[in-house]
Amino acid sequence: MDSFTKFAPHLIKTNNVAFKERNKVTEIYKNPPIGKKVIIKGWVRTKRESKNVIFINLNDGSTIKNIQIVADPDKLKKDQAIKITTGACLSVTGEVVESQGKGQSFEVIADQVTILGESHPDEYPLQPKKHSLEFLREIAHLRPRTNTFSAILRIRHAMTFAIHKFFNDKGFVNFHSPIITSSDAEGAGEMFRVTTLPPNSVPVNDSGELDFKDDFFGKEASLTVSGQLEGELAALALGEIYTFGPTFRAENSNTTRHLAEFWMIEPEMAFYDLEDNMNLTEEFLKYLVQYALDNCLDDLEFLKNRALDEEKNKPQNERNELDLIERLKFILENPFERISYSQAIDILKDSKPNKKGKFQFPIEGFGADLQSEHERYLVEKHFKKPVILFDYPKDIKAFYMKQNSDGKTVKAMDVLFPGIGEIVGGSQREEDYDKLLSRVKELNIPQESLWWYLETRKFGSCPHSGFGLGFERLMLFVTGMGNIRDVIPFPRTPGNAEF
Ligand code: ATP
Ligand code: MN
Repeated sequence: MDSFTKFAPHLIKTNNVAFKERNKVTEIYKNPPIGKKVIIKGWVRTKRESKNVIFINLNDGSTIKNIQIVADPDKLKKDQAIKITTGACLSVTGEVVESQGKGQSFEVIADQVTILGESHPDEYPLQPKKHSLEFLREIAHLRPRTNTFSAILRIRHAMTFAIHKFFNDKGFVNFHSPIITSSDAEGAGEMFRVTTLPPNSVPVNDSGELDFKDDFFGKEASLTVSGQLEGELAALALGEIYTFGPTFRAENSNTTRHLAEFWMIEPEMAFYDLEDNMNLTEEFLKYLVQYALDNCLDDLEFLKNRALDEEKNKPQNERNELDLIERLKFILENPFERISYSQAIDILKDSKPNKKGKFQFPIEGFGADLQSEHERYLVEKHFKKPVILFDYPKDIKAFYMKQNSDGKTVKAMDVLFPGIGEIVGGSQREEDYDKLLSRVKELNIPQESLWWYLETRKFGSCPHSGFGLGFERLMLFVTGMGNIRDVIPFPRTPGNAEF
């Protein structure tokens, strides 16, 4: 019999066999094995000690909940008690017993403690007190050890899984679009160049322009800003596909909603028109929120209380009317408002902030590109629920969007969420070869780099649609966090690529 079966035979069924020498704290909470031996491995959050007893709060990352370890200082090896400090990594074997103390219903009486890694208390930057999010960004290598970030990272995982599950259950094919691309159709000026040319002696041609002939790919290449164009090719063969990958934008927008590297989910569906597209988006977003409520409640409760605590310091009018969990439930209970761009412009033009000159970008009429302040006015003040705007002016949208018969608008849609603004952007795609080509020419988009995209419209084209959901924007909404830098492990923003 190995040591695990000897110690905890009742837990072997639920635990990962490959790591049999560890009982996950989340499993222990589900069904506390009172009277049984367990092996816990995790990191010290706090330690309290008196003369004849040491209480250690250990967190093993499997849940926001710590487990209380009770140790007898006389039973510890020499120096061990001193070395058990906040941040240290321990392996503890002991018996689960009902707890005498307040705050927990059970605890583990340690009979053996091994210090796997000391933590050097003078240097360890995470103390058992509240640290600012700004400070934690500077120690992004350690912030997963905090309650806030471990909760966010577990939710991030759950959302990733839910996204794949949603599409898989519907028969969508997960399609891997390339990360390195040579098509600059979409993101001119916003792309990161990929090159192996020496930075200090770049080859130029006779007319003094950069010559990419000798570069790795024999042509100019960049990191992708979207997998959509390739996704469309796949939809026109497989029917319904989705991509879920990293995208890169060298836009110098230092906002709380923009990253230079972010993850995007881009479904693309043959035979869907704009309305089918809106229906799918709404169902998808509601599914993800429901999944979070069903599977991440402990972490959401923690983040809810954390936010309520923060808001205590804010004036009444800056506080959320609903708490995090109420906001998530609210999304499920109400249909999204669907209005055309033109209707939105009318509402914004007549709105108080516009008339009083409160918008940084005043709305004069049709054609205005909506800024986040306008989007949030519509969602938070006017409709007080998510809004899908459709039929945008063609001049502010991409070349591939299907033109309406009015000659002015395209079948685009943006989903706007409270606290965030745009969370999804999508459209029905132009499937007509001639119309698409004339738009490409009108906008002076280099045709050579798009020949393959245009060809799909020549060979068995069909109506199709798709959208892009920014994964971190979804994470902002689900976690209630205010800054996109705090919902991705290692944020990349202008001037920041540490870790
Ligand atoms: P915005 O106007 O907010 O910059 P966009 O119009 O540039 O958004 P799209 O090109 O439609 O956005 O991209 C699809 C989705 O990707 C957006 O709805 C948003 O959720 C997300 N997104 C776009 N840019 C970023 C970014 N820099 N960081 C994080 N997410 C982003
Ligand atoms: Mn943008």
